[in-house]
Amino acid sequence: MAPKKGSIPWNKGKKNCQRHYIADITGQVFGRLTAIKLHEIKNRRSYWMCDCECGNDKVAYLWDLKSNRTQSCGCLNTETTVKHNKEMSGKDSPAYKHGRVGTKEYNNEVAAEYRAKKLNQTPELTENEKDKIELYYKISQYLGKDWHVDHIHPIAKGGLHHPNNLQILTKNANHRKIDKLDFIPDPLECFKI
Ligand SMILES: [Zn+2]
Repeated sequence: MAPKKGSIPWNKGKKNCQRHYIADITGQVFGRLTAIKLHEIKNRRSYWMCDCECGNDKVAYLWDLKSNRTQSCGCLNTETTVKHNKEMSGKDSPAYKHGRVGTKEYNNEVAAEYRAKKLNQTPELTENEKDKIELYYKISQYLGKDWHVDHIHPIAKGGLHHPNNLQILTKNANHRKIDKLDFIPDPLECFKI
């Protein structure tokens, strides 16, 4: 139960440990939250009833508010996640805009990435390296169905999903290669970018 106003032992200049910080923050704004009233003091920590911009209530620990760890009832996180997912795969995504979503090469790219991630064979990639991987798949898409993107050292045999391990290979050579580690294609059958 919230104590009556004036009965709270407000911290007046005392050098208290921050974790036990007590202060009157009524009306103060923290991100989307506005502190309404003290909700309770538990284990020497004060919890505040806050009003979120979206209309929800939220009880938050004072120090989480002060340190910006809590900035909404949770709606901010949800919105950020939804926005991120939309950007990555929705109609606003770069892949969609460039007409790549739904193409075989795009599906291969996503599948290769998934396989490599699952096997823990995706090294930390720079933006440049990510772009280069995408470029490999774009070129192969442009060249048509007779050319494939190939992992030189196959993912199934421990190869990395990294541009240094990629090449464009003819469909024919790719079929002869299967998962052979010692396969050397004819120079006319493959190239790197
Ligand atoms: Zn909210």
